[in-house]
Amino acid sequence: MNNTKNRGRIMIIGAGGVATVSTHKCVQIPEVFKEILVASRTLSKCEAIRKDIKQRYGRDIQIVQVDADNISELTALINKFQPDIVLNLALPYQDLHIMDACLETGVHYIDTANYEPLDEAHFEYSWQWAYQERFKKKGIMAVLGSGFDPGVTNVFTAYAQKNLFDEINYLDILDCNAGSHGHAFATNFNPEINIREVTQVVRHWEEGKWIETPAIIEEGSTHFSFDYPVAGAKESYLLYHEELESLVLNIKGLIRARFWMTFSENYLNHLRVLKNVGMTRIDEVDYEGHKIVPVKFLKALLPEPASLGTKYTGKTVIGNIITGKKNGETITRYIYNVCDHEEAFKETGTQAIAYTTGVPATIGAMLMLTGVWQGVGVYNIEQLNPDKFMEALNKYGLPWQVVEHTALPDKV
Ligand code: NDP
Repeated sequence: MNNTKNRGRIMIIGAGGVATVSTHKCVQIPEVFKEILVASRTLSKCEAIRKDIKQRYGRDIQIVQVDADNISELTALINKFQPDIVLNLALPYQDLHIMDACLETGVHYIDTANYEPLDEAHFEYSWQWAYQERFKKKGIMAVLGSGFDPGVTNVFTAYAQKNLFDEINYLDILDCNAGSHGHAFATNFNPEINIREVTQVVRHWEEGKWIETPAIIEEGSTHFSFDYPVAGAKESYLLYHEELESLVLNIKGLIRARFWMTFSENYLNHLRVLKNVGMTRIDEVDYEGHKIVPVKFLKALLPEPASLGTKYTGKTVIGNIITGKKNGETITRYIYNVCDHEEAFKETGTQAIAYTTGVPATIGAMLMLTGVWQGVGVYNIEQLNPDKFMEALNKYGLPWQVVEHTALPDKV
């Protein structure tokens, strides 16, 4: 990205938990982010962020209502505000519309989650990779997946490839939320997106092909107890996660790549019942003359993820166990971050899931704005130099460690 004309203007789209954290972080880095606009569908949520920022830092930000699915409205807004970068923290459904508006206006783009069509619970990068030539032609940069996972987990892998290994052969990404929010059932980020993700058939990558196994709530799902640093032993479930799709292409020498996430039996039981009674359906059903989508109705009943922070205690522990070769020897390293829900809440008014996503989103935007990351076209984050990103994680609230570890077994 050519930053010679950069005036430090960022437009953040969305006003949920992740956008709240990113706005806080941008305000905390005034030397980079000089003008901040938060644009989202519900103005009152933007207003709440603005008020909190004013109270905590005495600084004002701009806010505006926008429907990011309306490309001409969004294009007009971008033309008016003239940002140097658009940080998409709305939902995956908006990705392509926001990329279209960036193309129209010639503004750089960054997000944290890959595109998902509304009517199909399916996510993959192909739709966004299809913008490659158009972004190149326009001379602008898109960075995909700058949250924690995807995001930091990709950067951890790129860092390991660049600095710790000659060749990476086995990758296990382990995502543990050992926190407690005090609700019987709630999701840590947008409930609709979360439920669509975790009810899918599981896939992992092995010897050049994708292996399918049952969804986490089904009989025969793959799980094991992993002893996490700080959090202790937690049941961890094999899950398909979007960063696997790009990592298997960009990390050379990979034989196997898997993703694991912790779930409590209570969470899984709620999810099983919701699925069995049809509440996780994404198609329209008739209800007393109205059309409703059950999972959207469910979202309206569940706590807002951004509101969970008030009672959240405990920690998240997310990281990668990587086995590969160094100087002819086989070695294994575990790179991870521990984040505390209560500390995240004290700093930003949101819980650690939003915090661990919003901080890397801001760091990615910062590296683009300052010209550390330059390029034209569409990039997955592991394709960019990881070193400054890793430094910034330590500086801006997500410190990480690398330790020796035993390799995870083939069969758990
Ligand atoms: P929320 O549901 O809390 O926030 C989403 C925001 O986007 C809401 O303010 C919503 O508006 C707004 N929005 C939705 N549709 C539109 C639209 N058409 N136009 C304008 N604004 C719109 O979600 P989160 O903050 O929890 O998550 C944000 C993103 O981060 C998601 O894409 C999620 O998948 C991703 N994520 C990524 C992670 C990672 O590690 N990579 C982890 C966690 C989340 P309204 O208030 O009106 O609903």
